[in-house]
Amino acid sequence: MASLSLKHIFKVYDGGVKAVNDFCMDIEDKEFIVFVGPSGCGKSTTLRMIAGLEEITAGELRIDDEIVNDFEPNERNIAMVFQNYALYPHMSVYENMAFSLRTMHMPNDKIHEKVMEAAGILGITEYLDRKPKALSGGQRQRVALGRAIVRQPKVFLLDEPLSNLDAKLRSAMRAEISRLHERLGTTFIYVTHDQVEAMTMGSRIVVMKDGFVQQIDTPINLYKYPDNMFVAGFIGTPQMNFFDGTVKKTADEVKFSLDCGTEINMKYIQADKIPVKYMDGEHRIVFAIRPDDVRVYDSTNYDDGSWAPAKAVVSVVEVLGGETLLYANLKLDDPDCESSMIIIKANPDTVARRGDVIDIEISRRKFHVFDRATERSIRRRIPEENIINASVTDGKLGFEGQSFTLPPAICCADSAGAELSMPVGALTLGSGTGKARVQWTETIGNETLYFLKVNDVTLFALESGDAKYKIGDDVDFDIDFTKVSAPSLGIAPLKLTNTLDGSFSKQKNKEKRAYDFFMNIGDARLTPSESICEKIFACKGNKIFHTPLEYIADTKDITVSRHLEDAANVLTGRVTEILDYTTKRYAVIDVYGQSLIAAYDGSVGDTVDVAIPTEAMTIKDKTIDIIIV
Ligand code: ADP
Repeated sequence: MASLSLKHIFKVYDGGVKAVNDFCMDIEDKEFIVFVGPSGCGKSTTLRMIAGLEEITAGELRIDDEIVNDFEPNERNIAMVFQNYALYPHMSVYENMAFSLRTMHMPNDKIHEKVMEAAGILGITEYLDRKPKALSGGQRQRVALGRAIVRQPKVFLLDEPLSNLDAKLRSAMRAEISRLHERLGTTFIYVTHDQVEAMTMGSRIVVMKDGFVQQIDTPINLYKYPDNMFVAGFIGTPQMNFFDGTVKKTADEVKFSLDCGTEINMKYIQADKIPVKYMDGEHRIVFAIRPDDVRVYDSTNYDDGSWAPAKAVVSVVEVLGGETLLYANLKLDDPDCESSMIIIKANPDTVARRGDVIDIEISRRKFHVFDRATERSIRRRIPEENIINASVTDGKLGFEGQSFTLPPAICCADSAGAELSMPVGALTLGSGTGKARVQWTETIGNETLYFLKVNDVTLFALESGDAKYKIGDDVDFDIDFTKVSAPSLGIAPLKLTNTLDGSFSKQKNKEKRAYDFFMNIGDARLTPSESICEKIFACKGNKIFHTPLEYIADTKDITVSRHLEDAANVLTGRVTEILDYTTKRYAVIDVYGQSLIAAYDGSVGDTVDVAIPTEAMTIKDKTIDIIIV
């Protein structure tokens, strides 16, 4: 039983291949985690770093709260099962399973007990005397699993364990491994390139591509709410259908115009999670729909307005028995055009032939929309931001009939119209000059997403806890201007992190007969904790003394005062600007020629003490852009 924590894990192979970049994840005890992605995306490298078979270039790996970066594989209490089984050919099944216990000098009767128990769980008791070559692939894989089970490890790591088996056996073994996980109640981490395997086995899945984590979520959330086009296309069979086009809002209607000529109409309320800025008829977007969310028109179909009509020409019909897959095309004069191909999971009784033009219906609920350029979802479960068209007159911000007095920290010239972005967390409910009506609420985890009708558009607010307001309630709202941005008006959000250039040095301490180490920022020297020193040396060794670094600290972690009593690890700075957000004031502070921002209620010109807890800092190697601590 074990929990794992992977913090900013990087792997750079000799020769410079960046195989894994900034992998961050907390894994709870007893989870079944699957790493999935195409070949070469960094799955095995990550697994091998957890196993201790591959050195971690940077980052921190913890098992049960203990940093194990420097632990040998056998000190980690982890068992790994490989694709090629890695059995000893000259030993019997029994001896293969007993081998690691013998090296631990376990008494024979205890070994016998453990081997028999594992063999019983896996149903291989009758093969215990055979040599591996006399076993089938599935039986060999069971022996490999058995060899891992007998050691009762804290964590099971499985690297594509089923890829050498045929399809039928693979699906049987999938179920068997899931049952094994339940029975053992141990943390499993499983690597595969097969999304079906990932979807059916994982309690959470990590989708990777080119060394970067794309999304970490439960199978159902990955399927329903993919963050980007890669995840959308990778998860689910047959694959999601994608169509390039644009979208336009007029009054209460929204129209998707696909490049192939198809138009999909719906009410604005059905598409209100898409930021209005994309609905100008010009932004390039991708409309996407799963084959399960398209149906062939039938006059008996139930429809409450959730289905948009369209036409398609049939190209290929695949009768699978339980269902029929139609490969059709939205371009009626070109059944084989790649970019407008649509796969439809149809009723098994559907009768269609190549060349037939059919009426189809596309779900107005379950469609996805992506930004063509970034390939990121713009119809996310929790929208990231509200993007609206706003104006500024005499220090007042106006949009959709609302007016807010800008705080002194934001001074900008009058403007008739500019794009303003407010993250969903920037809207606060219950007070303020804004007026909205609650149109809908959604509970997501322990947060509530409010759909607020504000004049002609929907704005989103995200608050923690259960819904405090009901559908139909009138509610006042305010804006947290520290989070708002409008580049064309020169409005930027308050910086939440501060980056300071620096270095790491040592000095001989004659009394202690040891070295003291320092984090240098300008002329200031901060004293790092022992654990920071350990991590730094584990990662960089003596090279650290010649490496340009960035010390990164969150604004919220910095304490500023005219005089701090406890003067350890304090920088001296001078206030160059006060940012007054009415309810809270911040200062821009010059420290040794670099600037940082922190909460401070004083005046420009003040000389101040700035305390940054070194434990809360992130330390980055500037030359290779990798986080060390
Ligand atoms: P996956 O398991 O997803 O197929 P890997 O983790 O095996 O991917 O590999 C990730 C990347 O690292 C690939 O580009 C691969 O070529 C590279 N790589 C893997 N092992 C080594 C190695 N020992 N030396 C150099 N590059 C490697």
